[in-house]
Amino acid sequence: MGKTDVGVKPGLLERLGTDVVVCAEGYLFECERRGYLQAGAFVPEVVLEHPEVITELHREFVHAGSDIVEAFTYYGHREKLRLIGKEHLLEPLNRNALAIARQVAMESNSLLAGDLSNTNIYAADDAARRTVRGIFDEQVGWAMEAGVDLFIGETFSYVGEALLALEAMRRSGRPTVVTMVFHQEATTRDGYTAGEAAKRLEDAGADVVGINCGRGPRTILPLLEQVRQAVSCHVAALPVPYRTTPEQPTMQSLRDPLTDIRPFPTALDPFVCTRYELADFARAAHAMGVNYLGVCCGAGPHHIRSLAEALGRTPPASRYSPDMSKHAFLGTDPTLKQDNRDFAERL
Ligand SMILES: [Zn+2]
Repeated sequence: MGKTDVGVKPGLLERLGTDVVVCAEGYLFECERRGYLQAGAFVPEVVLEHPEVITELHREFVHAGSDIVEAFTYYGHREKLRLIGKEHLLEPLNRNALAIARQVAMESNSLLAGDLSNTNIYAADDAARRTVRGIFDEQVGWAMEAGVDLFIGETFSYVGEALLALEAMRRSGRPTVVTMVFHQEATTRDGYTAGEAAKRLEDAGADVVGINCGRGPRTILPLLEQVRQAVSCHVAALPVPYRTTPEQPTMQSLRDPLTDIRPFPTALDPFVCTRYELADFARAAHAMGVNYLGVCCGAGPHHIRSLAEALGRTPPASRYSPDMSKHAFLGTDPTLKQDNRDFAERL
């Protein structure tokens, strides 16, 4: 695919008007898993220390079907940099993350997204709100200078904080996506149901509202139904790829019966969904009227490809989607050695 200017491609709203949009998230977990980011503070210093890792990960997600290259500024905000004593890296970190994402967006048909996230210091008082607003404003400024096509504000537990992010993003004039995270109680920390939260965000001018992170496919769907019924705008859904249950509805609340420990965030492996479960989720959510779909923390390119294919897409990675017909033991190809096929039962 030839190089194009980021700005001349069909934009987010054009795409949503006629089709679904796929968005890969979950960069923190994937970089941690690969050994380039420390669990705990979860700050994306990797965009400065190993930019090639992020370039490659963006490319892998686009190859797998993501329509959006989300600049890896999640948890790259002033509060997180303060926490690790590196506020001097705030601006270079943001600018690098945006430049890396822009490069990959420009070499593909994907859109470049600026990204704001929960600050973890939000409170309803004026002082906290002022600080949070400052955090969002400076990140939006850097993203605008990088020429982003849209903004994503994600993983907010407070509607109040999401509204501050939305206000900052809307000043850019770019399309906005806002997704909330719902913990065990299934309401925001400021007491709104999923439907109420979505409606407030739609009324405040968000173009796409929805839910990301926290919940797996099975436990995000009932809340998505509430969101879909509450709003008339586009709806987004980006679950984590973990087998959450009604009893343990979030990845943080999962308990491993073998070890009796809290597996979040570094021992969630036994709970990972298969690619086929993500495909089932994509079909169910799409049938419900959700047309912005993706996967959050824990996502691998195979999840994104499977989700994209379930939505009728054929991303470049589909060239390598499974074809078991020629498998030495499990295949059906008539030229396969017959006794290997018989042996399949004993594998
Ligand atoms: Zn997440």
